[in-house]
Amino acid sequence: MPFNTNDPQRKTWLPIPQNSDFPIQNIPFGVFLTRDDIITIGTRIGDHAIDLGALHQLGYFEGIPLTDDIFLQDTLNDFISDGKKTWRLVRNRISAIFEKNNPALRDNEAHRKIVLFTLDEIEMQLPVQIGDYTDFYSSKEHATNVGMMFRDPENALLPNWLHIPVGYHGRSSSIVASGTPIHRPLGQTMPAGASTPEFGPSKLVDFELEMAFITTDANNLGEPIPIADAEDYIFGLVLFNDWSARDMQKWEYVPLGPFLAKNFASSMSPWIVTLDALEPFRVESPKQNPTPLPYLQQEGKRSFDIHLEVDLTPENSTTTTITKSNFKYMYWTMAQQLTHHTSNGCSVNSGDMMGSGTISGPTPDSYGSMLELAWQGTKPLQLNDGNERKSIQNGDTVTIRGFCDNGGSRIGFGEVTTKLLPPFTEFKDS
Ligand code: CA
Repeated sequence: MPFNTNDPQRKTWLPIPQNSDFPIQNIPFGVFLTRDDIITIGTRIGDHAIDLGALHQLGYFEGIPLTDDIFLQDTLNDFISDGKKTWRLVRNRISAIFEKNNPALRDNEAHRKIVLFTLDEIEMQLPVQIGDYTDFYSSKEHATNVGMMFRDPENALLPNWLHIPVGYHGRSSSIVASGTPIHRPLGQTMPAGASTPEFGPSKLVDFELEMAFITTDANNLGEPIPIADAEDYIFGLVLFNDWSARDMQKWEYVPLGPFLAKNFASSMSPWIVTLDALEPFRVESPKQNPTPLPYLQQEGKRSFDIHLEVDLTPENSTTTTITKSNFKYMYWTMAQQLTHHTSNGCSVNSGDMMGSGTISGPTPDSYGSMLELAWQGTKPLQLNDGNERKSIQNGDTVTIRGFCDNGGSRIGFGEVTTKLLPPFTEFKDS
């Protein structure tokens, strides 16, 4: 099934603000609550949200094999399950409906009133019911920085790291949509110099600049996915802030890895941008040395040039952009991650989510976490409002933005923004 949605010359009859993340070439998928309190699956062009359930009921998807209620659902899981051929048919059709010279919807005011929403009329929801969430650790720069700080500067990368896309199984229950505030977690830590641990609010809450991909049904239990096929099972990507509590992490993570320091909250952007939309922005991933084992060897351009930025805004104050990184720095690609994940026969389902791991670039102003930016508190970050930060404080809002721009066209992900609230209950010593 070919797709023709990426033509940079294609224009739409909807208004597109300058530098919009959502030109007609993007056509992401999301779930939103409408002004009539109805949940529907939709897409976005410019600053309009489009009700795909209504479009389908009005007959605009005629000829595409879709069940009647495929878009009248509160998650994208069933649509994702329909597979790549259907995603392409639907995106091709949406692209045609909103193409500048197509009068069908453009000139039908009654239909436009049913189908189109301005952004202030809708409320974005979590777009998928995430069955399983896996978080990788695939940025060499990040793994090296953390290894230097937490373990041994001379042997920062553990011996397996250059051979395995290292990951762990996270919790899907605490993944929230952009705009949902989170609480500072309580937990157990071993303060520096102490001989017994204590329990209370984490003193070192951090963000992690990540992206995550959403899968479709990929394999039956026991069946690995060959690397050449892996991308066929990736529906799309979102921005992802994998909140972390560094003091809890440092005390708990040996021997079994991340646990409560990582599963209290993770925030995702609400629009899933498809791999097809990202096609014009493919780039080579970093050269891998040593060469991975044969089951992880891949051909061609397997990464994407996605600019990433993080803003920090203290309560009632001004915003500082605290880092700029890029998805292309990832050492292990999504195809390698998914292939490795299923190499033992582990099954992957529609709506599963795979985090990239913190995406740090090569220079100190491109690091993807406060831990690295402030180098474990030794280099406090200066903010525009005169404050400084070694970790995220109560009332701070962290916003990740991401977009691709190759000079000729631009598409983006919007943002994921989250405010950190004080602990839900203060720990009281009895
Ligand atoms: Ca992470």
